[in-house]
Amino acid sequence: MFPFMGQGHIIPFVALALRLEKLTMNRDDDNHLDTTISIVNTPLNIPRIRSNLPPKSSIRLIELPFNSSDHGLPHDGENFESLPYSLVITLLEASRTLREPFRDMMTKILKEENDGESSVMVIGDFFLGWIGEVCKEIGVSSAIFSASGAFGLGCYRSVWLNLPHKQTTQDRFLLHDFQEAGEIEKTQLNYFMLEADGSDDWSVFMKKNLPGWSDFDGFLFNTVAEIDQIGLSYFRRITGGKPVWAVGPVLLPPGEKTGSRSTEEAVKAWLDSKPDHSVLYVCFGSMNSISQTHMLELAKALESCEKNFIWVVRPPTGVDVNKEFDLEEFLPEGFEERIERSRRGVIVKKWAPQVDILSHKATCVFLSHCGWNSILESLSHGVPLLGWPMAGEQFFNSMLVEKHIGVSVEVARGKRCDIKCDEIVAKIRLVMDEESGVGREIRKKAKEVRELVRGAMEDGVTNGSSVIGLQEFLNHAMVKKVNN
Ligand code: UDP
Repeated sequence: MFPFMGQGHIIPFVALALRLEKLTMNRDDDNHLDTTISIVNTPLNIPRIRSNLPPKSSIRLIELPFNSSDHGLPHDGENFESLPYSLVITLLEASRTLREPFRDMMTKILKEENDGESSVMVIGDFFLGWIGEVCKEIGVSSAIFSASGAFGLGCYRSVWLNLPHKQTTQDRFLLHDFQEAGEIEKTQLNYFMLEADGSDDWSVFMKKNLPGWSDFDGFLFNTVAEIDQIGLSYFRRITGGKPVWAVGPVLLPPGEKTGSRSTEEAVKAWLDSKPDHSVLYVCFGSMNSISQTHMLELAKALESCEKNFIWVVRPPTGVDVNKEFDLEEFLPEGFEERIERSRRGVIVKKWAPQVDILSHKATCVFLSHCGWNSILESLSHGVPLLGWPMAGEQFFNSMLVEKHIGVSVEVARGKRCDIKCDEIVAKIRLVMDEESGVGREIRKKAKEVRELVRGAMEDGVTNGSSVIGLQEFLNHAMVKKVNN
């Protein structure tokens, strides 16, 4: 398994690896699988991955040589999380140099496993589109595991394959090969998509990466079939009927340690002291942040809306993400002190125990950048969303949860929008206030979706869609084994 080097990719890959490990170990029928699972990544990401694995896990970690400084990246720039957004494309491009080391590693594994019985299957990331071709060359089957939902990734693919959008005069348009997604607004294209003309760094990368997807033998999606049919059907169509399995939500179990223990304990103690469904959780994921101006508007809004809140603060856009910082540098004067005194809010620097927060009964709503993992984690716990998409396919994820599923209200769009405190307060109230009809509807829908998501994970007398999806994938992998 080879995830791209970003927490939003690594975390679901690790969660899938753990689920596969459990499933293959527990199969005691004739189909018992003696399976070795390995996760491949670059040196600095290996310890991160290890820290997400239980001590007794049998999952192996394989390191590929990679030196970020060779590619114009900071010396520790091997993960989206440690890079400013402007260098994300540099890491994407640099990752293409992993092709040869990956090929060599696979050749070595195939030699070692050459007992006539074993087969190897590769699960790769959609940002590592070259993996499918390497696998074809060496005769190994492969599947993409998408950490994004099918709707969001489908829109993303279609937008990149139909450039340019710069000259588009219409404010709204349909995607050429994905019309059923509905009308896309020009403001849903991020800066790089809008400016792309085929010769810029993003277009060049996408032109090399996207065609590679057709070399894979199938797609695994970290999504739930019941809420993402439009996107799943799109991928079935464009892959010409290759298998597309919905195996989500693939999440780390709550309590899995992805941050500092002292933060976890403080957050839990504070949440325990708050009434049920009273807390707004605000977090923009592992790599995005908002501008300094937006931070001030959001801080004012959180203070004046009088709701309990947890806010994960990363340095604003343009400031070095790795730099130590004091909150006063970026927040209104006295904000932190007032919040602490009133005990109405908790400000967490950089990284909060998100799944623990979303699964706590005090949490009511999640103001999110609409990263797909965040959405799945929220919906798995029946928490509705306030969307503020920032980049990539997040705009389309926001559209899916608001327009097609009905569990979200979009607050703002993009990193450069003109949003004021009053508008943020109004949207927070719309979703959180007891007496708000829209809020009641959305909160009710979020509970219904939680049941759908739980149903998908049902593993017993009847199996849910996610369990069936993963079993079908394993059967497919085994058929390959017999054929090999
Ligand atoms: N996350 C977390 N604490 C934070 C920020 C992020 O645990 O303070 C986790 C979150 O639970 C999710 C992942 O990091 O699993 C972020 O993935 P997502 O797809 O939502 O967004 P990305 O970071 O890739 O933009």
